[in-house]
Amino acid sequence: MQRDRIFDVVKLFVVPTPIGNLEDASFRSIECLKSVDLILAEDTRHTAKLLKHYAVETTLRSFHMHNEHKLIEPLIERMQQGGTLALVSDAGTPAISDPGFLLVRACVDNGIEVECLPGPTAFVPALVVSGLPADRFCFEGFLPARKGRQKRLTGLIDEQRTMIFYEAPHRLLRTLQDMRNVFSSERRACVSRELSKRFEQHHRGSLAELCEEFEKSPARGEIVLIVEGKGRHRAERNERPGSDEC
Ligand code: SAM
Repeated sequence: MQRDRIFDVVKLFVVPTPIGNLEDASFRSIECLKSVDLILAEDTRHTAKLLKHYAVETTLRSFHMHNEHKLIEPLIERMQQGGTLALVSDAGTPAISDPGFLLVRACVDNGIEVECLPGPTAFVPALVVSGLPADRFCFEGFLPARKGRQKRLTGLIDEQRTMIFYEAPHRLLRTLQDMRNVFSSERRACVSRELSKRFEQHHRGSLAELCEEFEKSPARGEIVLIVEGKGRHRAERNERPGSDEC
């Protein structure tokens, strides 16, 4: 009973925010942001625009990868004293390739209840529209830019689940070329750009075809890359094994 009473008072809300289209904020997310004592935001100026749009007047405080370590203890103390906090990132769901994991873990370790509202995140719409199997998938986030990059990719050679990557536009072509070399030219993929924004686009094809396309016209905007898992093409179409699938 004591535990339930504490959980009524002490809470961290993890609140997803739009990934491009402000109208994707849910009623509940706005109500939550209005009702908490403090909002922790990755970039307060960026989040201030969302709050202004929805007339949220709650105090904002910056919480990002450079200060999260030193803020965790005082924030936990604040919640233990009864404060309710909301954590947001610049876009999408906090802790998904964004700060949040350390604070959530500290809450769990200290018996503070955490609630994550369902809401926007870039990889789900990209996976769904890719046309690649969505029954089993793995989220890989950003590949390392240099050190460890090749190892991460070769570690995925036998991955059968659909793979999800976040990528910066200036690195997309190199990533597609590296994947073509490591996985195979025929492996199917989908590049989703600017999800939920005015110029949302999806480019589907083999890794070889996508390399050719982005060699001709470099990618712009925010990108999610979906890559089919090993053997899925064959399994789905009941074909004989291709050279890369053995
Ligand atoms: N927390 C976010 C989420 O839940 O998806 C991800 C944050 S991560 C720092 C930013 C990356 O997410 C971008 O570089 C891009 O790969 C992807 N992303 C975010 N918004 C996107 C959008 N509107 N369209 C395509 N990709 C997007």
